[in-house]
Amino acid sequence: MYRNNGAGAFIVSRLSPQVALDDAETGGAVWADYDNDGWLDLYVPIIAPPIYLQALQDQFLAAGGLIEERVLDSLDKAAAEADLLVNCSGVGARKLADDAAVYPMRGQTMLLDAPDIALGYMDNLRVDHIFPRADGVLIGGVKLDGDWKRQLDPAIAADIVRRASKIEGGIAQAKVRREFAGLRPGREQVRLELEARPSGKAIIHNYGHGSVGYTLSWGCAEEVAALARDLA
Ligand SMILES: Cc1cc2nc3c(=O)[nH]c(=O)nc-3n(C[C@H](O)[C@H](O)[C@H](O)COP(=O)(O)OP(=O)(O)OC[C@H]3O[C@@H](n4cnc5c(N)ncnc54)[C@H](O)[C@@H]3O)c2cc1C
Repeated sequence: MYRNNGAGAFIVSRLSPQVALDDAETGGAVWADYDNDGWLDLYVPIIAPPIYLQALQDQFLAAGGLIEERVLDSLDKAAAEADLLVNCSGVGARKLADDAAVYPMRGQTMLLDAPDIALGYMDNLRVDHIFPRADGVLIGGVKLDGDWKRQLDPAIAADIVRRASKIEGGIAQAKVRREFAGLRPGREQVRLELEARPSGKAIIHNYGHGSVGYTLSWGCAEEVAALARDLA
């Protein structure tokens, strides 16, 4: 939570821990006068994916869901085995759904031990960010269109630290807890639609969320559920 100090600046509010959601769910950003001083403060939810995704998986299993991991080489073969197939294969849809509009947007980030850093920072144009999270401080990043490399690139890591250090000087000395490289599923538009396959089976596609898959996830899931209900 960022408190508006009424003089053109925001500071991390001492109320932050009180308004944090401890059940790993998240919500939208909200402007409101939380401390009744006449200035609008800003509430920004930040999730730590390892905690959040584990919580979602726990809910799914507790509700009776089963997880089986395997590599699929055909949507039709998979659809034949199921009542309904929802294709959420991300960048894998380029091959699996034969969709040439899908491309990788490679990202790289680092999780630091930096408990003194409480203020978040984001520059969407340059993809630079500093996110204080429950599990450390995440810094990044890059967005390299068309790059399929999943390995970490030490030169990019060094550059991320250099850029973040210009904003928060202490970052250069912070211990690195983990480093991540990932492929965002790029596509000009999200593909969320029902497809009637020649086999007679229907498939719901839900992929291509690019840099904002977490942000869009609940809304897209509701649309998928509505399509599935219409089929029933
Ligand atoms: C560095 C970085 C920072 C990001 N920051 C944010 C952020 O701040 N906010 C935000 O909202 N989003 C962010 N994103 C984007 C977000 O991570 C993605 O949009 C999201 O993960 C997409 O989810 P998905 O489930 O559609 O695809 P994925 O998470 O890519 O999952 C697709 C799954 O399908 C599996 N799969 C693919 N093909 C096959 C196959 N043939 N057989 C079996 N399985 C297959 C893959 O193994 C994978 O498990 C970020 C991404 C990166 C890389």
